[in-house]
Amino acid sequence: MTAYDDQNIFAKILRGEIPNVTVYEDDDTLCFMDIMPRTDGHCLVIPKTPCRNVLDASDAQLAAVMRTVRRVARAAKAGFDADGITLQQFNETAGGQEVFHLHFHIHPRHEGVAMRPPGTMGDMDAIKAHAEKIRAAL
Ligand code: 5GP
Repeated sequence: MTAYDDQNIFAKILRGEIPNVTVYEDDDTLCFMDIMPRTDGHCLVIPKTPCRNVLDASDAQLAAVMRTVRRVARAAKAGFDADGITLQQFNETAGGQEVFHLHFHIHPRHEGVAMRPPGTMGDMDAIKAHAEKIRAAL
């Protein structure tokens, strides 16, 4: 398996070299808003320690990340009055992964509302307002 590259964008976010809109953090995990949101409230949960994805993650990293995923997913569902939550997680390029630091996507979903296509930068004011909705429900 390819080695972890500490120049990936999420490693830079963890080191404070790139800004992020934080939703939640604890000793082991960070949740922040996706900069190209495919849904209102689209956010990402990452471990604070290095691993590329699920394939090389330790039990402890996965347990910590999944605890935060559940916690934020519940808050996102409440904060957005959502009908459901979609989780996405990609592993290696062939699996759809683009940033090689383990992350889970959390998407609040509403009946009949499709996810937007990937790759479009979001409006920062809207992203910040969406983060606040989740934070308020945590
Ligand atoms: P994946 O690796 O799961 O395919 O996608 C990586 C995700 O990271 C994408 O949803 C993309 O919008 C997001 N992303 C890429 N660069 C940045 C960034 O600099 N900041 C934030 N907050 N999200 C990013």
